[in-house]
Amino acid sequence: MLPRVRILTALSVFTPRTFRHLVISFLFWQVMFAGVYTALLEVFGLLELAPMWIHLTVSFLLCAPFLSLTLLLVSEHLHLSRKFRNLSEMDALTGLRNRRSFANEARRRHDPDGRDLMILLDIDHFKAVNDTYGHDKGDICLKEVARFLEGWIRPEDILCRYGGEEFAVFLQNTSARYAMPIARTVSAGHHFDLGEVRVNVSFSMGLAQWDRGQSFEEVLKEADTALYQCKRDGRA
Ligand code: GH3
Ligand code: MG
Ligand code: MG
Repeated sequence: MLPRVRILTALSVFTPRTFRHLVISFLFWQVMFAGVYTALLEVFGLLELAPMWIHLTVSFLLCAPFLSLTLLLVSEHLHLSRKFRNLSEMDALTGLRNRRSFANEARRRHDPDGRDLMILLDIDHFKAVNDTYGHDKGDICLKEVARFLEGWIRPEDILCRYGGEEFAVFLQNTSARYAMPIARTVSAGHHFDLGEVRVNVSFSMGLAQWDRGQSFEEVLKEADTALYQCKRDGRA
């Protein structure tokens, strides 16, 4: 992620609500301390000993530890918000985006005047990997596949684990003529080392151009139909 994007992502959890809480908390501690401090001085007849601005400065300094505590809590809150947001957008196994986050991001980045593409990839005969080597090796295989696909996409593209052994890619402003040979190379067989075993994985794929006026669901359906056709025409 670019540093600018990272900063914006970090700031995006700093919502108006968080800001409001910070201000309210600040005012609360400040008013409370100034009030208690002034009242005590008044009770002991010490208010006249120094000008008011000195009293206010002292009360502010006394309040500082509590303000620090508030800032600490707010910063912890921001950290947790960011963490929860990342978790809610991520597929736990592969670390890729999940389906919901993919849909949101693809809708956000889609340019109706551009030539965006949607590709669905489904691992062929994946059940056989589980059946032959066990579910754990199947999990490792999915993680390896995710890293492999990440290596193919460009920074402006979006990749997600769409579910099970299916992956979706949103390719920004790309013609099918350019993407097709690349997608074919990606979906051809590849070897993945899963510890002591090596498996060959190929994909079936469906590609659809995101036409003007089409919704996310419509272009995805089109890619899914193409994927289904690819499966019917014969897996590798
Ligand atoms: P096809 O070529 O028709 O796509 O065959 P396939 O075996 O890939 O597809 P099928 O739908 O028959 O089976 C999908 C398999 O993917 C079965 C399921 O157990 C496995 N699978 C889905 N999610 C996971 C996962 O998170 N971990 C593991 N290890 N396996 C998974
Ligand atoms: Mg499938
Ligand atoms: Mg499959």
